[in-house]
Amino acid sequence: MKDHPKGLPILFFTEMWERFSYYGMRAILVLYVTEQTISANPGLGWSKADALSLYGWYTMFVYVMSIPGGILADKWLGQKKTVLLGGILIAAGELLLAMQGLTFFYSGLTLLVLGVGALKPNISTMVGGLYKQGDPMRDKGFTIFYIGINIGAATSPLLVGYVGEVYGWHYGFLLAGIGMILGLFVYMWGQKFLKDVGNVVTVKKVEGTNKHVPLTREEKDRIIVMLISFLIVIVFWGAYEQAGGLMNLYTKEKINRVVLGWEIPTSMFQSVPAFFVILLGVPVANYWVKRYKMGKETSSLFKMAVGTMVMGTGFFMMTAAAWQAEETGQAMLIWLILSYLLQVIGELSASPVALSFITKLAPARYASIMMGIYFAATGLGNKLAGMVGALAENAGEFEVFTGIFLFTTLFGVLLLLMLKPLKRLTHGAEELTPESAA
Ligand code: GLN
Repeated sequence: MKDHPKGLPILFFTEMWERFSYYGMRAILVLYVTEQTISANPGLGWSKADALSLYGWYTMFVYVMSIPGGILADKWLGQKKTVLLGGILIAAGELLLAMQGLTFFYSGLTLLVLGVGALKPNISTMVGGLYKQGDPMRDKGFTIFYIGINIGAATSPLLVGYVGEVYGWHYGFLLAGIGMILGLFVYMWGQKFLKDVGNVVTVKKVEGTNKHVPLTREEKDRIIVMLISFLIVIVFWGAYEQAGGLMNLYTKEKINRVVLGWEIPTSMFQSVPAFFVILLGVPVANYWVKRYKMGKETSSLFKMAVGTMVMGTGFFMMTAAAWQAEETGQAMLIWLILSYLLQVIGELSASPVALSFITKLAPARYASIMMGIYFAATGLGNKLAGMVGALAENAGEFEVFTGIFLFTTLFGVLLLLMLKPLKRLTHGAEELTPESAA
């Protein structure tokens, strides 16, 4: 991180703790809600269907609220203050969940949705704000930031999950809240490294009037290509987010999880993708830099298309698993691991790149709202994933896994065919050097 701006480690650790809090809470949410009301570690006693529906809405709303979160930053507070507000709301939300009672439960979830909506898009935009236009380090900066996200995401299901299941759900939520409070400390302490980033952008007015200067043709085109790229985002997360739902249940029911005589608990596999991100983040980023230096195609749209296809091939591994399970009753663990491996290689080619892409293309005064719409698209992807996963009940797992593989492949090919006209709409935003942008 030494070649990067000083603000990067601050945003890295703030977001690492926020994600620790988010994924830890998420890991026990469904378990808590479905647990009997009369048990050693009592829950709310809901049905599985109700719990999964709550989970689907919750994971959609946390991201959809990024739109008002982005507007709040662009129009009034600036990203830096909105992130602080979001962090406080998240910590308060987790602390409410740490208390007993339905009122605390619902008000806690509401604060979390508002808090993540305020924090998540704006901290991502701030990462982009650390780099000058055309700075080749920007994509790498986002990869580093993404690794921070996944350190939080990899460790918290294990820790919060353990505390929640063994000591009590409310202690789990409390731990998630403590994580966010630690993140807030880092953020407050690090303000001195964030002086020039995340402040309110003053909008130019047309001379003599109260009207804002309208968007130029270039800016409009760039917004259009961003909105088109959000379609990729919905498809990508609609497939990828099977991990918490269908893949999770499939792992429990059909994958042989016994290694050296020990049956690995299903929930532990939820940490596997995040560990792969930590392990492969830098090598995958380096691979793309190498291709760039060789003068080959490396535009963000290209990486997003290829990333979606590679992620999709992960589902072909699940096709193999489902085929084996249909033949023999059980599938080998290696299919699941290979599937996550390919999904993560795809994720690393598409997801940090998409964040970076938005910070390159969005006009400064709309940076947060564009990021907000991006996260809202990932939220729709989360909801879509739940709907696609639910199809397996009637259609069968083999069919759903194979369907995802075929769809993402076809979708990727189509994108590659349309690459040239799409790139034209970016008006060279990706080819700028720091000198030419200055
Ligand atoms: N896993 C990543 C994160 O938690 C991406 C999530 C998303 O874009 N919806 O930040």
